[in-house]
Amino acid sequence: MSQIDTSKPTSCRFCNGTTRPHWRRGLFNRCLSCGLLTRTRSIEGAELERLYEQSWLDPDFRRSETGGTELTHSRVYAAKLARELRIKDFTGLRICDFGAGRGSMSQALSELGAEIYAVEPFGYDFLIKQGIRAFRNLRDLPPEVELDGVVAISVLEHLDTPWQALKQIRERIKPSGWVYLATPNANGLVARIAHDRWREAVRPGHLVLLTAKMMAKILERAGYSSYRRLRWYIAYQSGARNLFGYALQMSGLDGELRYLAFK
Ligand SMILES: [Zn+2]
Repeated sequence: MSQIDTSKPTSCRFCNGTTRPHWRRGLFNRCLSCGLLTRTRSIEGAELERLYEQSWLDPDFRRSETGGTELTHSRVYAAKLARELRIKDFTGLRICDFGAGRGSMSQALSELGAEIYAVEPFGYDFLIKQGIRAFRNLRDLPPEVELDGVVAISVLEHLDTPWQALKQIRERIKPSGWVYLATPNANGLVARIAHDRWREAVRPGHLVLLTAKMMAKILERAGYSSYRRLRWYIAYQSGARNLFGYALQMSGLDGELRYLAFK
């Protein structure tokens, strides 16, 4: 186990600015210059690998690490994404599901005609068994494959330096290529109320937490020419809670940041 050491001031991985403990329990530091939230005691590489490997022994049980998105939700996301891109479906498009988890988004996109290239370092074998074309790494994709788009759902928060992954992704897509991103919203209502008891802050695999402002900064650093935040109304519950969810999503205070960025 690595040591907890919150006494040492650390500099921000994004901008080199000074960081200070954020929230009371000190799980995260916040950069005073750019606002990036980084886990104070970052899990060491080997420990993180163990966490993921153990989770993958029973992927349906430990969904917080293996990807909890249900197929029914993924189908909603895929249909909404097609509408945002003003296309009927994904026929003829080569799409990378970056951090594919248990493969539900790969499946939903493929049902709508996409040619899927899943990238999943830990769940690779699980995906292959399901008949999904999977790779351990973006670098392992055949070099001749030109991607039309990439989806990265609940991935950025697991990376030390998500802007570097976004840059690598950008290099793999066509000039007209796009990237769809979804990550927890550190400025959402639940985060503001629950602070470091927020379930996204508690999960040990979450190394950075982002806000809309931070998303803009990392997308610009990674070289994307344009991007927009998507405000999708997704009904997770019924009745009054649904109405509340609608209000949150429209005001930008909901728990998820969704972005569409163009090369
Ligand atoms: Zn910073």
